[in-house]
Amino acid sequence: MPVRTDARHGDDLHVDLPPDVHHVLAILTEAGREAALVGGCVRDAVRGETPTDWDVATSATPDAVSALFARSTWENPFGTVTVLPRDPGGKAVEVTTYRIEGPYRDRRRPETVRWGGSLEEDLSRRDFTINAMAWVPGDLGAGSGRLVDPFGGADDLRAGVLRAVGNPDERIAEDALRMVRAVRFATRFDLELDPVTESAVRRLVPEAASLSGERVREELLRMLAGPAAPSRALSMMESLGLLNVLFPELAALRGVPQAKALRGDALDHSLRTTDALPATDPVLRLAGLLHDLGKATTLADGHFIGHEREGAELAEALLKRLRFPRAEIARIARLIRHHMFAYSSGWTDAAVRRFVRRVGADLLDDLYALRRADNAASGAREPARGGLEELRSRTARAVAADPMSPKQLTVDGGDLVRELGLRPGPVIGRLLDELMEAVLEDPGLNRRDLLLALARESSSREPSVEQSPARESSAQE
Ligand code: ATP
Ligand code: MG
Repeated sequence: MPVRTDARHGDDLHVDLPPDVHHVLAILTEAGREAALVGGCVRDAVRGETPTDWDVATSATPDAVSALFARSTWENPFGTVTVLPRDPGGKAVEVTTYRIEGPYRDRRRPETVRWGGSLEEDLSRRDFTINAMAWVPGDLGAGSGRLVDPFGGADDLRAGVLRAVGNPDERIAEDALRMVRAVRFATRFDLELDPVTESAVRRLVPEAASLSGERVREELLRMLAGPAAPSRALSMMESLGLLNVLFPELAALRGVPQAKALRGDALDHSLRTTDALPATDPVLRLAGLLHDLGKATTLADGHFIGHEREGAELAEALLKRLRFPRAEIARIARLIRHHMFAYSSGWTDAAVRRFVRRVGADLLDDLYALRRADNAASGAREPARGGLEELRSRTARAVAADPMSPKQLTVDGGDLVRELGLRPGPVIGRLLDELMEAVLEDPGLNRRDLLLALARESSSREPSVEQSPARESSAQE
């Protein structure tokens, strides 16, 4: 990506400020405080791009900042006050008091944060030279100001170099996340690691093992959401040794052979699958990244029997380690578990309905997207091969027309208790499952009288309720 300005330390630099950012800078400076843009937004401006997030650093303490802005919140212990937009659709602006100590350490140790100090000191605590620039407003109305770049970040951007601020060994020892961030920024802006920074990373890679799952998760998600293909960042993590420390399950796919039209091993395939999924859905991309994890442990005679189950379990463990929300873990694990479906036009409508019931109607679009990406990443000329479009339209029709979950049955558990005189308990769930199976077979049965009759008949043969096939199949899900 080209850098479109030639600004250097001390130079004038024009920045198009959104009204809310302008407002924050104006109020702070009119109150006699120092205020400057810092971090990513300055980097973006130097690159000639429009920043998305605006961070302001100030000499004012957090209390003073919140006193100046009625619409502001101060919830974290890091001295960051969020000034809310004045109009809906406006921009929130993060205002942070100059920091002098341990500001980016593991967030479990906030007591190391101190404020006070100067803008230069604040910049010197930042990770990379390209992120350690500031913009000090001059004539705010005209959007003009001065670039403060004590570490040569603008030159590094132009030269295509990512360099730690100060001594890389010390900076990485201070916070191992900077290794992961180095990969993210280098691949996002197409930069080479400065050799001294790179050798520090290689030496300190084992330190990444002590990072909190949350912080690794946030970086991983940003790699997956970025405009650069995630495979670039993940490959770089592999070559630096970070993949092995943070995601050994993925690193284990290296060298696992695959018989696909496209060359490469199971890791190459997983990375290609990730890239083929939309950047707008990082969680789906993560499912693509992890979908074949089970291949490292199930390979036998050129087959990977049961790899979707093993893979789902490995993925769950990995995602739990990263403290992903439970709903996202479940979504990814289900996608992996079901990713091996094999449709053929010969499927009956009942088979289509059973497929929907097994997978879950909510997951179908994701599952088809994953299959397309998986196909593309295998070298298929037609990513929708295997009748994918036909299956999509058949399942869509089925979902629109027929009951697919016990909630859509014309009787519920309460009905069974009242009408059949049953005691509430597991037997009710089993009966509903059995009714569901019957309705999947024949949707015409979804009538209250017919279902009650079926349930009556079934509960009179209690042992068969115990061993109903419906129960077996749902226990496996
Ligand atoms: P993005 O556009 O991806 O948000 P960013 O540069 O704004 O990029 P953030 O993670 O939002 O990145 O951090 C904002 C700024 O805070 C960075 O530019 C950097 O100056 C500083 N920073 C963030 N994390 C660290 C860290 N772990 N160590 C040192 N400085 C950090
Ligand atoms: Mg940011």
